[in-house]
Formats: sequence, structure tokens, C-alpha cells
Amino acid sequence: MNKLLIVGTVAFDAIETPFGKTDKILGGAATYIGLSASFFKLKSAIVSVVGDDFPQEHLDLLTSKNIDISGIEIVKGGKTFFWSGKYHNDLNSRDTLVTELNVLADFQPKVPQDFKNSDVVMLGNLHPLVQSSVLNQMETQPKLVVLDTMNFWMDCALPELMEVIKRVDVITINDEEARQLSGEYSLVKAAAKIHTMGPKYVVIKKGEHGALIFQGKEVFFAPALPLEEVFDPTGAGDTFAGGFSGFITQSENISFENMKNAIIYGSNLASFCVEKFGTERMEHLQQEEVVNRLKQFKALTQFDIDLA
Ligand code: AMP
Repeated sequence: MNKLLIVGTVAFDAIETPFGKTDKILGGAATYIGLSASFFKLKSAIVSVVGDDFPQEHLDLLTSKNIDISGIEIVKGGKTFFWSGKYHNDLNSRDTLVTELNVLADFQPKVPQDFKNSDVVMLGNLHPLVQSSVLNQMETQPKLVVLDTMNFWMDCALPELMEVIKRVDVITINDEEARQLSGEYSLVKAAAKIHTMGPKYVVIKKGEHGALIFQGKEVFFAPALPLEEVFDPTGAGDTFAGGFSGFITQSENISFENMKNAIIYGSNLASFCVEKFGTERMEHLQQEEVVNRLKQFKALTQFDIDLA
């Protein structure tokens, strides 16, 4: 089986949406990526850090999804990364209320020996120096390196972020962040500028308006499924990244054509994530539901205009 190495936060989140509020629930970029990638035939591992305030049941959940957690360091006496956010009424935008790095502040990642030859590396959201350190530890060149990041790191670690961006094949970011990173309002111009920073493929996530993938002048669009219930968009971007990188790992095909399918898979899995608070929907999601919704995606996007 092919291997996917995942890096990112494993966290406590406190979330407020127009539909309710939660106190310190399981969150983190790597958590969502891992849960999402568990829907593919692959071997995965998470590299991250938590404090000893982190409940064993959350770690057990990851193990129950066949995710190797030997790369998750538990710091004695340390506090787990904490993030709190409040969504606006449209659920497409949010304010970060609190980001407490805690144990993440001095984290030195250690890639498990068995994953130093991973086929795909998914550098999820966390400090760009940690993302770089993971790449430095690889013993063989991965077939594909995907990076996800957010405005927080653009604001507080831009030079380090630019260094790691140079080294990746694919970047996945949301529209607002693409504009911030490139200084361009048009997403077409933003993608072109981000190409010059390193990544051959630029994926721009647009929340409930789907996602775009650019390779040079080529572009493909995956819609988001129109949903009846949206409760909490937290983790949708990471779930998308987990679906994207998981599909590529399983299929061993890094062509642009296959990446089109990968962003459909990413959108498909993210559409479940938002239906309940936190990780709840992803924890109980069944493979059959994923396949059924893919059929809906196909029906939503297929048309047959005669251009002759
Ligand atoms: P998303 O909604 O996909 O942007 O991801 C939200 C998740 O990212 C939450 O579970 C947070 O714990 C995590 N998160 C929030 N801010 C950061 C940050 N600065 N670095 C890493 N992870 C973060």
C-alpha cells in the first residue's frame, strides 16, 4: 500500500456558528486531514504534538481509523494547541478569536522511520519551519508534496513560509489567503503569481463556491455540493486537503487530469465535514455515503452541449 505522511496541528477548538457554540472539542488540521484520508486504501501517519491534557480517546479515534500516531509527540506538563473561531452569518467567513500555540511553539517534529519514504507528503497547516523540517527528514523524494497554510502564518512567519512554498508541488489555500499571498485580487492572476513562488499546481478553495485547480494556463473547477444543512465549516479546508492527497496517494497518478478527480474527492469529503460540529460527521461517515454523494457530484456537473 502507498504511504501518506501528514503533518499539521492536532488541537482543541472552540467554535461559534449562528447555530451554536462548542467548548474545547477535538480539532486540528492533521486531525481533519487524517480522518478524510482514511477513506482511501493507503497507509497514513500523522506527525504532530499535543500536551498531556489531550484525552487518550482522541488518540484512540485516530488509531481506530488506521492512522499511525507514533509521530504524535505528547509533551509532559504541556498544553495542547488551542484555536477558537467565530463564523459570520453567511458561514463563509470567520474571525479567529484565539490562537494559543502552546506545545507547538517549540515543537521539533520526528518523522517515523517507516514513513521516511512516503509516496505523498501532506504538509498541513502549522508552523512553516515544522513543515520544512519534515521535508528535510525524508530519505526518498516523495512523488508529490502538497502544502496547506493559512493567513496566520503569512502574518507571523512569511519568510519561513516562502522558503517551504518553494519546495512543494501543490499548494492548497483559500481565496482570501491566495489574495493575501499574491497581492492580486483576480484569482487567475493570484494563481499565476503563486506559480512563480514554486508550486506547479495551485488549488484555490472558495468555501461553498467550490475549488479551482491551476496548472499554468490550464484551469479546472470543482463545485461544492449545494447542501441543505451546514452547521460548522471548521476543518472543511483540511478535509478537502485530506481527500485530495489521499486520492492521489491511492491512485499513484500525479497528472493534472487525475488532480481534477482529486479536487472532486476533496470537495465531496468536505461536504460531509460541514454538516455537523467539529469532527463528528467525519468520525461516523460511511464509505457507502461517500460513493453515493460522488454520484450526486457527477450529476451536478455533467452536461452535454452539442458544439458542432
Ligand atoms: P480550516 O477550517 O480547514 O481552516 O481548519 C480549521 C482547523 O485548523 C481547526 O481545527 C484549527 O485547530 C486549525 N487551526 C486554526 N488555526 C491554525 C494555525 N494557525 N495553524 C495550524 N492549525 C490551525
